Amino acid sequence: MTMFLNFEILQHEARLKNVGDLKRQPFYRFLHYTYPLHAIGFGVFLYALGGFPLLVWGLGVRSVIFLHAAFGINSICHTWGQQVWDTGNLSQNNWLIGLLAHGEGWHNNHHAFEHSARHGLEWWQFDITWYVIRFLEAVGLATDVKLPTETQKNRRAVMVTSNNSQISDKKELDAEVSNGRH
Ligand SMILES: [Zn+2]
Repeated sequence: MTMFLNFEILQHEARLKNVGDLKRQPFYRFLHYTYPLHAIGFGVFLYALGGFPLLVWGLGVRSVIFLHAAFGINSICHTWGQQVWDTGNLSQNNWLIGLLAHGEGWHNNHHAFEHSARHGLEWWQFDITWYVIRFLEAVGLATDVKLPTETQKNRRAVMVTSNNSQISDKKELDAEVSNGRH
């Protein structure tokens, strides 16, 4: 079922236009169009290595945990946690999903600064995806990495109360985000 679900997601993503740079590279096209074969091949590898128990734990249980963590971002993180930014929705920062979903659980941060490569904006907000991006930046494989500016953070902070200033601030923020460099 996981495989079919992923295949549907792949078919949907094949229509997306926002990864044009990746689509031009043969290596990523190969990964994209052969993904189901990788999953099947990995299952065969696990079965050969450790039999049925390793297949169940390494492919079945692992996929279920991964999918629940991923879906938890849009369900748990819109129900339980802390809201530190004024985002106009119910998004929350949830440390448990932050751990399980590799930093994506700092979801109020994400909604406040959707352009930001970093979700865990505080040093104590564990965000392994950000650590990988920092590494890729350090070795020159990632460039133009975007982060929210202090001005943007001040404008999104929960203590902003005046409706008029919020509206004008959000317009300025959107303008900054569309130009957005850190
Ligand atoms: Zn959300």
